[in-house]
Amino acid sequence: MNKEKYFENTTEKLHKLLKIHSDVFAKQDNRLKNNIANIQHYIYKDTKEDCYLLRYNSNNIKKYPKWQLIHIIFHELAHLVLGHCKDFCISKVDREYRAEKLSLLWTKQYYPEYYRRSINYLGKYKTYRIKIYREAYTKLWKEFHG
Ligand SMILES: [Zn+2]
Repeated sequence: MNKEKYFENTTEKLHKLLKIHSDVFAKQDNRLKNNIANIQHYIYKDTKEDCYLLRYNSNNIKKYPKWQLIHIIFHELAHLVLGHCKDFCISKVDREYRAEKLSLLWTKQYYPEYYRRSINYLGKYKTYRIKIYREAYTKLWKEFHG
């Protein structure tokens, strides 16, 4: 299975696993430059129900192993569950911090075999070039490593 198919199938699988009621569509979009993936909120014109578009850059996801793609999808779905796609009142650093934390908790609960790797990977962000992520994940790293 190629990575695109894997990403889309895994999105569907995790969407079910987390019992998210709104529709979520994973779609390849290589215009995404700084992100591997992101999630946006839309409203169906006819029914006014919520739906979400999870866009991913297929060039970027190719660099990541499957365990990490699961973590990335959890992170995006965490933004949805936490209401970050509709509510922009809390700071971007805080949103990233909270989404990543929930993603780690879900990884621990549903994929405990990947949890240690996800926690260790946070350390790489201490030197990350994008300030928002560097701050959010460094804060988490300190929490998890003391
Ligand atoms: Zn995020």
